[in-house]
Amino acid sequence: MTEDEILITLQSTPHGGSPRGIGFYSKAANCGRKAVLDEQAKEANTNQPDESEDEGAFAVGTHYHRLMELHIRGQTSNEVWDFSDRLVGEAMLEGLRLYRGYLDHWGSLGQRYGGTAVGTEVPIPATPAGEAKIREIFGDAVTGRIDAVLDVTDPAVAFANTGLQLERGRYLVDFKTAASMSPQHQWTFQFSLQAATYLDIYNMENPDKPALGMIFDVIAKHKQLRKVADKKGGSSYAAYLQKPGFDDREVIGALVKIGKRNFEESIPNPAQCVSGFSPCGHFKSGKCSRY
Ligand code: SF4
Repeated sequence: MTEDEILITLQSTPHGGSPRGIGFYSKAANCGRKAVLDEQAKEANTNQPDESEDEGAFAVGTHYHRLMELHIRGQTSNEVWDFSDRLVGEAMLEGLRLYRGYLDHWGSLGQRYGGTAVGTEVPIPATPAGEAKIREIFGDAVTGRIDAVLDVTDPAVAFANTGLQLERGRYLVDFKTAASMSPQHQWTFQFSLQAATYLDIYNMENPDKPALGMIFDVIAKHKQLRKVADKKGGSSYAAYLQKPGFDDREVIGALVKIGKRNFEESIPNPAQCVSGFSPCGHFKSGKCSRY
């Protein structure tokens, strides 16, 4: 693709995750009203001013994902694009920086994991029959998009490059951009409900070639991307594997049930208004009085 085509593609990429992904139900389970207000903001096509930092981080991830998708499709390489004379936003430049750093330092997905990427941006469920089955099992629509589907043929290569002990076979891959690396990632990704949900739905629809697990392929947004750990800090790249073999279907079903009810009834959860590092954006803006 030419520089212009890349730019147009990135500018026209919709920002937003799966409309009824497990992330949506988790958010609604935390606070139904927040999920409602976020949906309204999305429909009005407005950013939430008080959550501009979140929006910015989200946009970086969106651009990065789009570039990875184009690369897997063979439409881009790691050539140097120069957007310095264009009017492009910070988030896009940051997404580009991470993408180029990733390919320069760690190479393509297939090279690193000893295999071949056989799909990208794969929707789940992929068929109307799959959709109906999901509704039957979970009581509502649950959707997602798999960043990449990977067939590993040489697990020794994956181990040497990432430290992950894989088997020969199919894996789902999720690309993540993180503010920094954290020991918490080990827990978050090993026991990820997103991974459990995606794997369950994917394997339900692909019984002939089921996936063995989900890999989380993480790049940290360090100012200087570090290929390996050095005196300044740890590597800017890490890979994690969901602990396979967990059957979380009941847990996912419960989350969907609670999230759906909270969203439909717009139930507020005042315990969430000022929890975490920053107050809820709707609390700061006064859009929600929390009662
Ligand atoms: S202010 Fe509190 S109750 Fe209102 S949406 Fe935010 S977290 Fe929910």
